[in-house]
Amino acid sequence: IERTFSIIKPDAVRRNLIGKIIAIFEENGLRPIALKKIHMTRAQAEGFYAVHKERPFFGELVEQMIASPVVVQVLEGENAILKNREIMGATNPANAAEGTIRKLFALSVGENSVHGSDAPETAAEEIRFFFNDDELV
Ligand code: ATP
Ligand code: MG
Repeated sequence: IERTFSIIKPDAVRRNLIGKIIAIFEENGLRPIALKKIHMTRAQAEGFYAVHKERPFFGELVEQMIASPVVVQVLEGENAILKNREIMGATNPANAAEGTIRKLFALSVGENSVHGSDAPETAAEEIRFFFNDDELV
């Protein structure tokens, strides 16, 4: 059993897709063991995406992430990290497989509806960034 970190991004929350996206996770064996709706501060968004700070899209990414609230979650299940990446689909919705969250809902490569950790180290780091141990149930 593994844990991963997920964000339902502003574009999806604004379009009332929280329930539909969580349903897809649950149907695929990923259980939310912690979740909350937050409005990220600029400092949080810049810290969370620090690895991308030299990329040309960094400014746009931060603006999009702080534009309106998000839902942050810890998902638990067998091979949760890889499973979540599969369910999300490719970063650019134009390349995302049929039935994936990004194929179904993403607007563009930037406003792509969800984030998911890409490896065990980043999952642990990203969970710690938003949740205390006593919030994981
Ligand atoms: P995430 O880390 O959000 O789960 P990812 O691992 O598929 O997505 P990354 O390469 O880590 O993609 O990029 C992080 C985020 O930055 C993407 O989800 C997207 O919102 C944004 N992004 C990535 N590439 C571009 C781009 N070329 N133009 C605009 N935004 C981009
Ligand atoms: Mg990434």
